[in-house]
Amino acid sequence: MTETCTVCKRKPPVYFRKYSGEKLCKKCFCESIEEKVRATIAKYEMLEFNDKTMIAVSGGKDSLTLLRILHKIEQEFPKAEICAVTIDEGIKGYRDEAVKLAEQAYAELDIEYTVLSFKELYGYTLDEIAEIARKRGKGLTPCAYCGVLRRRAMNIAAKKANATKLATAHTLDDEAQTVLLNLFHGDVWRIARVKPVTDEVHGGLVRRIKPLCEVLERETALYAYFKKIRFQSVPCPYAGTALRNDIRSMLNRMEEKHPGIKYTVFRSAEKIREALEESLEKGELRTCEVCGEPTVGRICKVCEVLEELRINVE
Ligand code: SF4
Ligand code: ZN
Repeated sequence: MTETCTVCKRKPPVYFRKYSGEKLCKKCFCESIEEKVRATIAKYEMLEFNDKTMIAVSGGKDSLTLLRILHKIEQEFPKAEICAVTIDEGIKGYRDEAVKLAEQAYAELDIEYTVLSFKELYGYTLDEIAEIARKRGKGLTPCAYCGVLRRRAMNIAAKKANATKLATAHTLDDEAQTVLLNLFHGDVWRIARVKPVTDEVHGGLVRRIKPLCEVLERETALYAYFKKIRFQSVPCPYAGTALRNDIRSMLNRMEEKHPGIKYTVFRSAEKIREALEESLEKGELRTCEVCGEPTVGRICKVCEVLEELRINVE
């Protein structure tokens, strides 16, 4: 007897989901991913029926998959709206192709979007920033600059579009890696702050949601493949040295041997978070004296970074 899909019991399976034991056909696999995203949104109360959600799309498989799925879900809620943003950090030979792919997807799905570059927002491309930092022989890593400046850029874009939520395509892999990264950095308190949906802490900070936080990265890749989504697959030239890469390989090896372990790490962090949250001070956010964006201190991290870069250039 030929084998059939665990769910529909008709078609031949094309994917074996190791952690659940299911063997799925193409259609049931894709539906299971969409269903997972719907369930995650409901579980964490990520969206309200009249939200305008801005989706941050890098042009990689995760963000283009998220765009496709949220576009589909949006059709079920007549009062909900979606739009998208692509941040162009200015990484030569890498970002240009990704921006093109993102724009093609927006046109195909007829989605309102903006492309915002570091250059127009801050006066420097990430390449220029990396070069300045390299010449100085100190400063942050390109990824650290990139992270701080991209988060701000996304928030600015979301506010401009009057979006009430900002969705990023962090997968279960990203979330499990972040938990271990925070542990390895000795930054246990950060575990309490990284959440599938951020709290409302300041009127100027659009709440961020991660609807793919319970989907494995290999499954977003497979979804993209089955749906014939064209995405950029070349890695960022700055990605090579980060500790995150070592953690990624380690977690992938562990998941292979012990299916479900990434989810266990993610769930453990949720429990730690619940315990930590009680003793965590809920500090009020202030307004940066230079740019007026929300900040913990007197001056925000972005203005600090830009000030540092300027001093060096002169
Ligand atoms: Fe930015 Fe680092 Fe990601 Fe490259 S790998 S896009 S530098 S955060
Ligand atoms: Zn500032």
